[in-house]
Amino acid sequence: MGYEQRRQTLTSLSVTFLGTASAQPSSTRNHSALALRLNSDVWLFDCGEATQHQLQKSTLKMGKIEKIFITHTHGDHIFGLIPLLASCMNGAGGTAEGTEEPRAQVDQNIPPLEIYGPLGARAYVRSGAAYTHTHFGRPYVVHELRFPTDPADQDYTTLTASSAELPTGRNIQMVDGIWPDIYQDGVISVSAAPILHSVPCVGYVVTEAPIPGKINPKDYVPHLKRTNTPVTAMRQLQQGHSITLSDGTVLEGPPRRPGRKVVILGDTYDPSPILPIAQDADLLIHEATNAHLPGIDTNTKDSDTYETVEERAKSRGHSTPQMAGKFGQAIRAKRLILNHFSARYPGDESEQSLRIMGAIGELAAKEFGQEVLCARDLTSVDISLSKE
Ligand SMILES: [Zn+2]
Ligand SMILES: [Zn+2]
Repeated sequence: MGYEQRRQTLTSLSVTFLGTASAQPSSTRNHSALALRLNSDVWLFDCGEATQHQLQKSTLKMGKIEKIFITHTHGDHIFGLIPLLASCMNGAGGTAEGTEEPRAQVDQNIPPLEIYGPLGARAYVRSGAAYTHTHFGRPYVVHELRFPTDPADQDYTTLTASSAELPTGRNIQMVDGIWPDIYQDGVISVSAAPILHSVPCVGYVVTEAPIPGKINPKDYVPHLKRTNTPVTAMRQLQQGHSITLSDGTVLEGPPRRPGRKVVILGDTYDPSPILPIAQDADLLIHEATNAHLPGIDTNTKDSDTYETVEERAKSRGHSTPQMAGKFGQAIRAKRLILNHFSARYPGDESEQSLRIMGAIGELAAKEFGQEVLCARDLTSVDISLSKE
């Protein structure tokens, strides 16, 4: 391809929740999607119906979408993908095959939009584009995370790829139960692991490479002055390198400190397979579809107990706030945000909604050990570097 990613050090990292509904969207919650913003680049995680409308309501730029990660192929997580691709890749409402289509030129000089997802993601995009006669003006590529029970190679469709779809889409096999470093550019890496749901589902771990430690000039400047070393040597020290001065003194830069780690889960009733790579996350995003809120949620059935609600949530492949809180505790996450709420829990600012969402956050917080935020559509959160 000849295209090499040159990512700048991250000065800012943030998430914007574009959709926080479970199965049924509502006027206050859109289907699942969230954007991770790395400086000005945007990575999408899931792309439910009308995600592009949500993007338009946000400050994110559609043209900045670099990668899209799909957790699973349930419609509420992927139905918005084809229209979004059509919009951000100059998709022309094309003509039937064989007809001259002047807009169908694919500009191969633009870096491809990369899509990652479980088996079916590639076939879904290819079929969606083919049957709607959609021509993309920008190349794209779909990498699939193949489970051991999936076919190890080949596309999952007999449709041939369009000229926009690069043939470099990988079928990534699991190694020791995870998909390690499915993406890496020296500043950021992404690994993935299965999480248990009613269909094959994936959680993603985005990790920033170690960053330079805090430097105290007082520790170095006298040595540099004494040996007439240019002060520009500080730059090397700042990067954690060591330098040898003219008098033989070796100065070691401050040790690098860990970068940020964000764990973004899809739907799950048990994410434990991702545990080994999710430890010490700065931010965990976990679903909490169902909650037991007697006295707060007026629709609570008298016959329900926490146990029956948890049992029902699990049987449908989902979690309660308590389950999310426990997982956050298990991986020693520094922060937990919940998403993917039942249509019973609107995401508006009415007193009743705020009361319910506050109660859901508290249920999770009791297990997590600290405050938990319940995401609303278009909520944005900065992920800052830890102080030490
Ligand atoms: Zn869902
Ligand atoms: Zn699902």
